[in-house]
Amino acid sequence: MRWILPLVRPGMVQSLRFRLTVSYLVFFGILLVGVGVAFRGILQAILNNQVSALLEEEWGATKGYLSIEKKKPIWKYDDQDLEEKAIVEKLRQIYILADSNGNVMEVSDGYEAVGVERAAEIRQVMAANKPVTAIRRSPDGVPYMIRQGVLLDDNSKFYLAIGRPLAENERVLDQFTRNYLALLPVLLILTVLGGWYLARRALRPVTESAEATGRISGANLSYRLPLRGSGDELDKLVGTINSMLDRLEYSFTQTRQFSTDVSHELRTPLTVIRGQLEVGLMTARTPEQYREAIVNALQDVERLSHTVRALLNLSLAESGQLVLQKADLDFGALAREMAEQFQIAAEAEGMALEVSVTPGCLVSADRVQLERLMTNLLANALKFTPSGGRVTVRVRRDGAAAELTVSDTGRGIPPEHQPHIFNRFYRVPSGEADPERGLGLGLSFVNWIVKAHGGEIDVTSAPGQGASFRVRLPLAAPEPAQEAPENLVAVE
Ligand code: ADP
Repeated sequence: MRWILPLVRPGMVQSLRFRLTVSYLVFFGILLVGVGVAFRGILQAILNNQVSALLEEEWGATKGYLSIEKKKPIWKYDDQDLEEKAIVEKLRQIYILADSNGNVMEVSDGYEAVGVERAAEIRQVMAANKPVTAIRRSPDGVPYMIRQGVLLDDNSKFYLAIGRPLAENERVLDQFTRNYLALLPVLLILTVLGGWYLARRALRPVTESAEATGRISGANLSYRLPLRGSGDELDKLVGTINSMLDRLEYSFTQTRQFSTDVSHELRTPLTVIRGQLEVGLMTARTPEQYREAIVNALQDVERLSHTVRALLNLSLAESGQLVLQKADLDFGALAREMAEQFQIAAEAEGMALEVSVTPGCLVSADRVQLERLMTNLLANALKFTPSGGRVTVRVRRDGAAAELTVSDTGRGIPPEHQPHIFNRFYRVPSGEADPERGLGLGLSFVNWIVKAHGGEIDVTSAPGQGASFRVRLPLAAPEPAQEAPENLVAVE
């Protein structure tokens, strides 16, 4: 065993390859031993059957040559026929004849060497009147097959048994066992080698994937594990790891972008505020000039705290710390109220802001969050629509949902960007310097608010043809199917 130790490397015993090989070895070891035992059994049965058939023939022949006259056995054969004489002598080598009481009438030396049966056993065979073939060992351990039976002659029944040594069979079986046992270690070594090789082949993709995965770091997250195209479990695993890397890379990029954006977003106003205050300090002479410098700085501080608040709100919401204060409220009335707040800004930009709502669309919702939702959608609609455009706000009932649509006639969102605009920090690149550039947090917060209210949101848009955001929230108490109230004619 000691020669094996240098072959065992640290960690090898825990390796899957080692354990697979050991499993092969145990499995094939048991299988080979089982097959050997089964083959030996079959071989023994075949050999014994041959001897048994031979004994049967010899028993018949003995009956032919033997006749009993006046209780005496007489062997009838041609003394001059040497061949016949030899046959009879062979038949008489292991032979016994007894009367019905079990008294031995004639027994050969060969039979005595096997052991003469007791009278009781002889009587039992005669009573059963059926031929019996059994294997018996002589006192010195040699196996014999004995054929016992009843012989009818001289108007009486006699007991006749003949036998044959099974030593040759035993020798063949021993030979088989020895050869097989000599072959077994060779087969087992081949199993180990084959198992070791097969396990390496089977596990190579795993090893390669593990090595490749080990090389992935924050700096080269774009690396993907190669697929072998076999479509097996390992390929599926590689596919899963790759899609996990996609997600990781995406959120890594987002986080990196976020840090850049946040620091940029915070640094610019901070630099501006600092500049304003420094200029004020150096150039202001009158209280009015100081006042103006402070008011300007305050406005920028206000913008800054707005950004910080947005970030804080989103991280509170996404970490599940923002608890909704739900109450039944009229979605349409709220939309009208919010639109009114944007009316002046819209007019200032030369834009038309139209509202059309179905009254009575009750939703169970957090008013502050719904106001935030509409503010974001309306602010975006105004921001991305040039003057002269139109923004439409609509609330209506649709089945068991209240549906809000905020549509504009602005620059629209290219299709390839639409699936991403609800992600954090995602902004559609406009290609030009944009002073009103947001953080890309508004829609992700809107998305969170909609989901937190059990609703859904989608967007339809074509570049240059405006965008239409549709929010569906479950109605607080869906009314039984009836015609919409706006279609009813009021009766005084
Ligand atoms: P931001 O603070 O940048 O507006 P949002 O999350 O609100 O962030 O929006 C993400 C991006 O989706 C915006 O940068 C803009 O490119 C695009 N977007 C949102 N609303 C509209 C709209 N009504 N029309 C055109 N593009 C829009």
